[in-house]
Amino acid sequence: MKDLKAKVLYNILKTWFSSKERKRVEKLSRKADKDTIKFLNRQSVLNIIRKREEISRTDLTNETRLSPTTISAITSDLVKMNLVREIRVGESSGGRPPVIFGINPNAAYCIAIRITPKGALVTIVNTSFKILYRKEIGTPIYNEITLKDTLKASITHALEDFCEDIDLISGIAVSIPGLIDYENSTVIFCSSLHIENFNLQEIINEIMPSNKKAYIFKDADALLLGEYSFDLDAAYKNVIYILIENGVGMSYIHSGKLFKLPQGGFELGHMTIDPTGPLCRCGNKGCLDAMVSEDPAIKRLKELLEEGSISSVKEVKGLRYEDIIELGVQGDQACSTVLQEQFYLLGIGIANIINIFNPQLIILGGAFSHSGDEIVKQMKQIVFSKTLKTFSENTQIYVSRLGRDSSFLGMSKTVFEDSIFKMIKN
Ligand SMILES: [Zn+2]
Repeated sequence: MKDLKAKVLYNILKTWFSSKERKRVEKLSRKADKDTIKFLNRQSVLNIIRKREEISRTDLTNETRLSPTTISAITSDLVKMNLVREIRVGESSGGRPPVIFGINPNAAYCIAIRITPKGALVTIVNTSFKILYRKEIGTPIYNEITLKDTLKASITHALEDFCEDIDLISGIAVSIPGLIDYENSTVIFCSSLHIENFNLQEIINEIMPSNKKAYIFKDADALLLGEYSFDLDAAYKNVIYILIENGVGMSYIHSGKLFKLPQGGFELGHMTIDPTGPLCRCGNKGCLDAMVSEDPAIKRLKELLEEGSISSVKEVKGLRYEDIIELGVQGDQACSTVLQEQFYLLGIGIANIINIFNPQLIILGGAFSHSGDEIVKQMKQIVFSKTLKTFSENTQIYVSRLGRDSSFLGMSKTVFEDSIFKMIKN
């Protein structure tokens, strides 16, 4: 009898506790749903304000189909959070004139750094994607220590010169040549900087012990993201960027998305273009990197000058690839020869890429940025003589109009979309 009573009591308590627990979980989940909906509504309003640049509460209500009270509460929250500001008072259509909202351009900043073997260019970009600060650090980078030192100097300069309030920094973005493991923020291998398995987040944690998220990018990816988001017509969905500077790099946007491979990929610079060609720093012979780009161009120009070729260049020391391209286009005999030889090889490489990927557009960037129509004309002649006719009819070739700045714009867009403008709640 005593046991029966205890059993009944136990069952009552069990049901009571389970129903209490169930109610508690249901309440929590309702709250979580409510919080998520609130977050998503706020973020969609924020993103509409960002896209439209200037918008009134009435237009936000019409566009989101949220109630005027909800829009009013959200805009008020966003202003309090300093993400949105009241820009001006609009024109009245009878009643009270509307308040026009816009993004606060200085709500947050991204430190975006571009690394090359020659050093770093550090910038600060605001939420309106204006580059507000830039500083060049010309210390050569050739191993892990010099890379770490340059990153530290870049971040220190940016913070001291421009933004001392570290809380306003949304993230640190770094573009690096080489194979990138995006998932783990790691440079798997970079032959030009002589680094292997370099974890960017660990280094940023050492430099700035304030939990700042590090975003790593392959150099050509950062450049293409910028061009794609800030300069291209929306009709382009399959675009390839060819970066020509200290080597030859490539990036690919497929169906509107950056194409990434887990262990890196698209090492166009190490495509064999001449099996008997010069030794490449990767250990193979005749890679595109070893025959096209700055160092091979300077070496070849030096040979031509020694052979007596006519040129306005008297000394190759300190000459940049851009200078050789410019002089070549202007008709300098020796520079023009260098350019023609390199163009031919690069054209073969690009034709192979078009025959594999059939992109809508090829962007020539790096040293070729802003180089003009003549470069495009010459490149088209070489490339299209080697591509399938149907492919060449569909493919455009441009030179980059944004130049290297597209790298900072592309990186900061990714950082802000992951922090300020994100649509998924963590
Ligand atoms: Zn190679």
